[in-house]
Amino acid sequence: MNQDWQGALVRRLLLLLAGCLLIGLITGEYAWALALGLGGYLAWTIRQIRRLQQWLKRDQPDDPPPDSHGIWGEIFDSLYQLQRRDIHLRGQLQSVIDRVQGSTAALKDAVIMLDSDANLEWWNPAAERLLGLKKPQDSGHAITNLVRHPSFKEYFESGRHDDPLELPSPVSDRLWLQITITRYGNSEYLMVVRDITRLHQLEQMRKDFVANVSHELRTPLTVITGYLETMLEHSEEQSPQWTRALQQMNQQADRMQHLLNDLLLLAKLEATDPPTSAKPVNVSALLESIRSDALALSADQHSISFDVDASLQLRGRESELRSAFSNLLFNAVKYSPPGGQIYLRWWRDEYGAHLAVQDSGIGIESKHLPRLTERFYRVDSSRASSTGGTGLGLAIVKHVLLRHQGRLDIQSTLGKGSVFTCSFPRSRTE
Ligand code: ADP
Repeated sequence: MNQDWQGALVRRLLLLLAGCLLIGLITGEYAWALALGLGGYLAWTIRQIRRLQQWLKRDQPDDPPPDSHGIWGEIFDSLYQLQRRDIHLRGQLQSVIDRVQGSTAALKDAVIMLDSDANLEWWNPAAERLLGLKKPQDSGHAITNLVRHPSFKEYFESGRHDDPLELPSPVSDRLWLQITITRYGNSEYLMVVRDITRLHQLEQMRKDFVANVSHELRTPLTVITGYLETMLEHSEEQSPQWTRALQQMNQQADRMQHLLNDLLLLAKLEATDPPTSAKPVNVSALLESIRSDALALSADQHSISFDVDASLQLRGRESELRSAFSNLLFNAVKYSPPGGQIYLRWWRDEYGAHLAVQDSGIGIESKHLPRLTERFYRVDSSRASSTGGTGLGLAIVKHVLLRHQGRLDIQSTLGKGSVFTCSFPRSRTE
């Protein structure tokens, strides 16, 4: 084809040249004849360009290109084929887009596409039901102006979207939503919103159940412990077997009391709002008092050394911090053999404030570390009864830290000891 038009072009130019030469031969004016011939060729070329431009301007893809031959015929045909191919591809793309939009429209979950400035670009009908978005007036508006829950704004602007956010729907307080945000393409956002009302209700029922059972069990347990203590006070009147049985019953009742207290504390941590505008807590004094309790628990069998920045205070709720820190220190005592060294450090750096509790105890195998903060998770359940643990200590630590925007890191080597480090952001320090 390429060869064809090149040959035709050369033939046509040779013919033109021959014609000009012939006219020159007849008239004797070679230069004029040549100028006339080339001028004619130029005029014809300009006419083809004009026809091409008019055809392109019409912008009617089904209109065939103007008839022409030679190189111009080739150009018209190639352009026409390109245009047809483009129309075909566009059709295919549109049908894919239609199918994607059709399937996302049928989704029960809301799918929302935002541009890199978090303005709404596209959303499916479920987003209108769950978040109350309105087409077309909300298009182009910032999502944080439309979903005005403070936790959403904070979550969105934090840029940390690894974990989903749960919050009540702006449409109705009875509707609970779980929001997941993913960045894609040129830093655009894809937001997926699920209705988790049923899950939330079940979770609420679980929390209420645990809190109610723990609360209801407290009174009978107090009565039982009271009687056990009275009976133990008069143990000289009983046989040694009975005394031993009573002592064991008292021990187990004590354990149960601790368990109920821990369950109630966890329920309270889950049910109340985190301490946002809390007062500064004198952590140094708090640690000193926890250390005395830990020494009492250890019966002075362990050495607890201290390296504390006394000027460093933490904004938070003192009672919660006391529970978390004492759980860590008491664990260090419980899981270190007599004579063990425990090292407590409270310091600040450019990231914030940190508390490290290091022990030279039995240590933990690395496979257990990710699950340690789960409720009732124990490395060795037979060990638990001997230490009197409830299995809730680290779950409480995790909850308290979460409520203070803190983080727990655990490093441990079996047989050598462990380091539990709590880290708090700079915004919490004083
Ligand atoms: P518990 O009441 O059983 O101590 P925790 O939630 O406080 O429950 O701890 C969970 C488990 O983690 C414990 O059963 C224990 O096996 C392990 N553990 C916690 N702290 C330490 C530590 N300092 N050294 C070794 N093991 C520990």
